[in-house]
Amino acid sequence: MHWPDEAELARARKALLAHLRRKGIADPRVLAALEKVPRHLFVLPEYLPLAYEDRPLPIGAGQTISQPYIVALSTQALAPSPADRVLEIGTGSGYQTAVLAELAGEVFTVERIPELSQEAEARLRRLGYTNVRFRVGDGTKGWPEEAPFSRILVTAAAPKVPPSLLAQLAEGGRMVIPVGGRFDQDLWLVHKAAGRPVYEYLCPVTFVPLIGEEGWR
Ligand code: SAM
Repeated sequence: MHWPDEAELARARKALLAHLRRKGIADPRVLAALEKVPRHLFVLPEYLPLAYEDRPLPIGAGQTISQPYIVALSTQALAPSPADRVLEIGTGSGYQTAVLAELAGEVFTVERIPELSQEAEARLRRLGYTNVRFRVGDGTKGWPEEAPFSRILVTAAAPKVPPSLLAQLAEGGRMVIPVGGRFDQDLWLVHKAAGRPVYEYLCPVTFVPLIGEEGWR
């Protein structure tokens, strides 16, 4: 396989952005964040030539870095701003975390696999992010000490919306979460209005399972 140099990676990143625009991603802040975060530094070295393809890639421990289109679509639906405190469940490589950190005031990210959390934290520190806090644990229970959150993004698939996450979503807040079976799910934008969830359908998706007390056991 051909090994890309920095110039080729930069061209591939621009081509990915054009592809995302064609697929309907229109929020200029989201596009700018995806243009800025170097996805090739979040993939395993053997996948470098595929870093700017619009597809998920393995990151070790049986997990994946999400497809760029799904990262863009989820972030656009979440609509984070500098006033927001965002809870992310499923740190993985930290790529989506970095995109959120570009747009939100503070990001709190939870990952159940310690090695992935540690690697993501080191990567984001190297890239200069100072507005992200990392935690290892069962994200289905949220991060009660820091709740409420005005935005919650779940990057692993749940059989249903975990009640703890709904409880930790602020009134008027937004949550993006894939819900469904083990292998096929639907991505939902959940608004919290008058204490109750209101569901807006986004698209069909395939995510790795959310494993925990209020997820898959
Ligand atoms: N957003 C990540 C990225 O950009 O690399 C990809 C996340 S990957 C699709 C889903 C992650 O959720 C995996 O790293 C997995 O270990 C994690 N996960 C699954 N269940 C979890 C739980 N209960 N709490 C926290 N993390 C969980």
